[in-house]
Amino acid sequence: MSPPLFYPHGARIAVLTQEVVGILDYLAPEGGVRLGQLVVVPLGPRRVMGAVWGPGIGDFDAAKLRPVARLIDAPPLAPGMIEFLARMGEYTLTPLPSLLRMATRAPDLDQPPSARRIIHRAGPEPARMTDARAAVLRVIEDHGGAGFAPGELAQLAGVSASVVQGLVKAGALAEVLAPRDVPYPKLDPGLPGKPLAEDQAEAAETLRAALKTRGYGTTLLRGVTGSGKTEVYLEAVAECLRQGRQALVLLPEIALSAEFLDRVEARFGARPGEWHSGITRSERRRLWTMAAMHHVGLVVGARSALFLPFADLGLIVVDEEHDSSYKQEDAVYYSARDMAVLRASIEAAQVVLASATPSVESWVNAASGKYRRLDLRARYGTADLPEMGTIDLRQQEMEKGRWISPRLAAEIALRKERGEQSLLFLNRRGYAPITACRACGQQIGCDHCDARMVEHRFQNRLVCHQCGATRPIPTACPACGVEGKMTAIGPGVERLAEEVAERFPEAKATVLSSDLFHSARALKEAIAEIGAGGTDIIIGTQIVAKGHNFPRLTLVGVIDADLGLQGADLRAAERSFQLMRQVAGRAGREGGDARGLALLQTHQPEHPVIRAILSGEDEAFWDAEAAARQAAGMPPFGRLAGIILSHPDQPVVEDYARELARRAEPLRAIGAELFGPAPAPIARIRARYRVRMLIRAPRQAPVQGAISQWLQAAPKPPTNLRLAVDIDPQSF
Ligand code: ADP
Ligand code: ZN
Repeated sequence: MSPPLFYPHGARIAVLTQEVVGILDYLAPEGGVRLGQLVVVPLGPRRVMGAVWGPGIGDFDAAKLRPVARLIDAPPLAPGMIEFLARMGEYTLTPLPSLLRMATRAPDLDQPPSARRIIHRAGPEPARMTDARAAVLRVIEDHGGAGFAPGELAQLAGVSASVVQGLVKAGALAEVLAPRDVPYPKLDPGLPGKPLAEDQAEAAETLRAALKTRGYGTTLLRGVTGSGKTEVYLEAVAECLRQGRQALVLLPEIALSAEFLDRVEARFGARPGEWHSGITRSERRRLWTMAAMHHVGLVVGARSALFLPFADLGLIVVDEEHDSSYKQEDAVYYSARDMAVLRASIEAAQVVLASATPSVESWVNAASGKYRRLDLRARYGTADLPEMGTIDLRQQEMEKGRWISPRLAAEIALRKERGEQSLLFLNRRGYAPITACRACGQQIGCDHCDARMVEHRFQNRLVCHQCGATRPIPTACPACGVEGKMTAIGPGVERLAEEVAERFPEAKATVLSSDLFHSARALKEAIAEIGAGGTDIIIGTQIVAKGHNFPRLTLVGVIDADLGLQGADLRAAERSFQLMRQVAGRAGREGGDARGLALLQTHQPEHPVIRAILSGEDEAFWDAEAAARQAAGMPPFGRLAGIILSHPDQPVVEDYARELARRAEPLRAIGAELFGPAPAPIARIRARYRVRMLIRAPRQAPVQGAISQWLQAAPKPPTNLRLAVDIDPQSF
């Protein structure tokens, strides 16, 4: 028998506050409350939001309980959602309020829609234009004319609220009351898709059959870039929609590519719901509500879309499943890929993990039969995989301060002559990774972090990539005071762009780096322009590796293939392999007469990762990686958890960590080992010292229980100490 969903008297309410961990009892208002209902409850002198988590327990004393203050006019969280949050909390050891906050991220849920004022673009630009006014209009433009709450708009533009009001008075903006949230246009799964190639058709059929079971299952869909994976999983989406269930496609980019949304529209005749940090508050609220009311069929979003309250979720696609952006390591530590699998198992839904270069974890899960595996073997149509080669930098005459070898330069010149595009890949933002003084040797570091300041010449600032702190580029050395000796060491994309401009003055070059675009829309536009052929040479960081189609691109040059190979991290090889394989896959996607060419500049052409990329023997590479993990008892063969402690005072955090380590008996009891404490990979961030411990346990060991027991028995932490548990850490 399923538990009752309606509570006439008392209810336990999960309360959304920082301090209260857990669930409190309240008296139900007249008429009762239902499971998942969002409510406002009194807590001390405050009123806070909460969600009904279950019936009141046993004989509660009505006189002692405070009543729920009011019900929020929003759809209740479905039982599956509640179970998902509860189990995610147990798995990730995250307190429920933090998870609940993620699940109710729609703004203004507790305000009736009619009370919300929305600002949108109305008349012509005002006669009197100021920088502040222009900034406001630009924000609106960047969001395609969308509506904003007034405060939100001012905040995004970095101006005071009076600027927005001034524009309303001047008639350039108008203020209206928000209409009731409206359903999304229905997608039509009956429209014909592209005729599929044989292996695509087979894969699509397998996924359709899996969906028809209406049960849980996970499929690893593997195929090189351009093999038509997207086309295949859109068929799975179609089947899901035909069944009247909802589908979610997760993409790694913060900004979803316009190309992808267009593709969905071409396939289903309407646009999907879009969820990421770039959408407006009003849009976020609408999507949240419509997901719960089953008024949106398909949502395309970044990792946090996994927490939308879908009424009936039948399919989750995790595209580029290996991408590290699926792992959140801030506030709540979780892997959206793994939590997608958890959620699907609760909702009786299917998961499709799509990738050209799966994570070792997914590869092993597929090999062991835990996941189904589908392979697309060739590129779709006539496009061939690019030809691959290395450029041995030990044998090239490199000029000082130059990073493009003569061989690569010659290939670029050839592409330019033929009217084709070249892509130079360097995974380093900014101008140069190191700024140092030639007089005393001092390097400029961040005041708050254990990190170097990186020169960003386009902005004319030094920037810390850890905390974002910036400062002007000094002319005199901050250490020895000598003038004019500060020098840039090593290349970043901006410096590479400088070299390109010097060596190919005729060519039009575009730098693609996340920090150079003030909005997601500006980045999308730049990408669209490149796709249309508006540039000869693209210089980019890892954002170019991700799913964009550049039809005229026939040459990829990896400037420093050795960059990711060093480092003690067990995942270094896997990461480098994935990144370089993806980047190389950008060349020659559309076929045509010229086959693509990818060249890796390296000092160590014999390195196993470089050799695996050249030979195309990806499976052998994964098998070797998996074997190495198995031998070391590392994931997915063993389990890892990280404990990260931080405090402004180094001795305080170190002492406490050592104290914890001394009391690790509950960990030893399950056969786990504790490593550390040791300085975290970045030992200081934002003026807090960071210490890390790593727990390695056998695969089946009850790690979460042991960690909870261990931490609960620990002495009270010093004031201002932060402790985070990272189950399945990304780097180890
Ligand atoms: P992947 O997701 O594996 O990178 P895509 O699905 O994006 O591959 O396909 C690569 C290109 O080939 C896209 O431009 C896509 O439109 C095209 N394509 C894939 N399958 C087909 C098909 N069956 N018919 C026509 N075009 C296709
Ligand atoms: Zn910093």
